[in-house]
Amino acid sequence: MKAEKLIEMEDKYGAHNYHPLDIVIKKAEGIYVEDVAGNRYMDFLAAYSAVNQGHCHPRLLKALRRQAAKVTLTSRAFRNDQLPLFCKEISELTGYPKVLPMNSGAEAVETAIKASRKWGEKVKGIKKNKAEIIVCADNFHGRTTTIVGFCTEDQYKDGFGPFAPGFKIVPFGDAKALEAAITKNTAAFMVEPIQGEAGINVPPKGFLKKAAKLCKDNNVLFIADEIQSGLGRTGKMFAFEHEDVRPDAVIVGKALSGGFYPVSAFLSSVEVMDVFNPGDHGSTFGGNPLGMAVAREALKVLVDEKLVENSNKLGPWFMDKLQNLEFKSIKTVRGRGLFIGLVLDRPARPYCEALMAEGILCKETHENVIRFAPPLVISRKELNTALRKVKKVFKKLES
Ligand SMILES: *Cc1c(COP(=O)(O)O)cnc(C)c1O
Repeated sequence: MKAEKLIEMEDKYGAHNYHPLDIVIKKAEGIYVEDVAGNRYMDFLAAYSAVNQGHCHPRLLKALRRQAAKVTLTSRAFRNDQLPLFCKEISELTGYPKVLPMNSGAEAVETAIKASRKWGEKVKGIKKNKAEIIVCADNFHGRTTTIVGFCTEDQYKDGFGPFAPGFKIVPFGDAKALEAAITKNTAAFMVEPIQGEAGINVPPKGFLKKAAKLCKDNNVLFIADEIQSGLGRTGKMFAFEHEDVRPDAVIVGKALSGGFYPVSAFLSSVEVMDVFNPGDHGSTFGGNPLGMAVAREALKVLVDEKLVENSNKLGPWFMDKLQNLEFKSIKTVRGRGLFIGLVLDRPARPYCEALMAEGILCKETHENVIRFAPPLVISRKELNTALRKVKKVFKKLES
């Protein structure tokens, strides 16, 4: 079917909760996607870093097929033979002793909120219903009503109230403000080590270290939301490693399944995870054997193909090239690894549309930022090709 027809159909029958670029993708492989007319594009968004392993990775496809033919869902009323292996493997890979798998990222964030509050009450001794969680301005942790309730983006909240109490917001990167916000009722500080949706905001050097120390000194859990920044995106397995800190708990999702199937997880210490007792929390699909088999393979691909190393090697090189571009619209370039934001002094959407016409798929974030976050399987040669096209587009739009 033609793109126009499909777009019209989606418009008519679908909810209008997104404003996508008008490309209708019908298949994809590695860093490339193909639209219904047969045009090929380089994907520089990688489904918000959910396809770090590249689209339709053959090993993931195989794992999915193999498991789908055996058993897909047992619910946690019964056990399955994939969940224990997943928990053991991700625990050994990350060093976190306990694992609770969920499906979407937002559900894993909700799990972190529940764990923090319950730890606050049962272990720290905060009075019932008084536990507070500190988060940062410009955060993005998902779209449930609780989560949008503590975001600072008006549109994400508009019309969806009333919201859950118990959250305090401090400026991102401001350790002094964090210190001032901590009280005896603070159970946790939850933060993205690099804010993705806010436009690839890298905190000032030393912030994570200071935050970790403040949390430790005040018996507050330090929780890193690595759903987007984790699993190699920034050139380390986790973005918090850039500051050599060790959060008490980590939230992962997106690339955890390489784009095949929604799998997320909350990783923590034994002390924190042990607040959950049978019946306290759950999910019908969480920990299902199909998701677990895919996630196991997705993690193995990250390691076997050295994708973290590739991001660490090519990211700084690509960022340097972007920093050397001389166009008056470019204010700054920021990021880490292959997690890069090109900050413009004007709306980024026309640039994204022009890049698409050149065969590069990017999406503007926060009006003025173009995010470059291709699958981590990308090569230097492909980045060079992309760079040439970026130059061409900027030249054209600014002449
Ligand atoms: C995408 C994202 C989420 C939400 O994940 P969903 O799977 O969309 O629910 C949460 N936190 C961060 C940092 C994200 O980038």
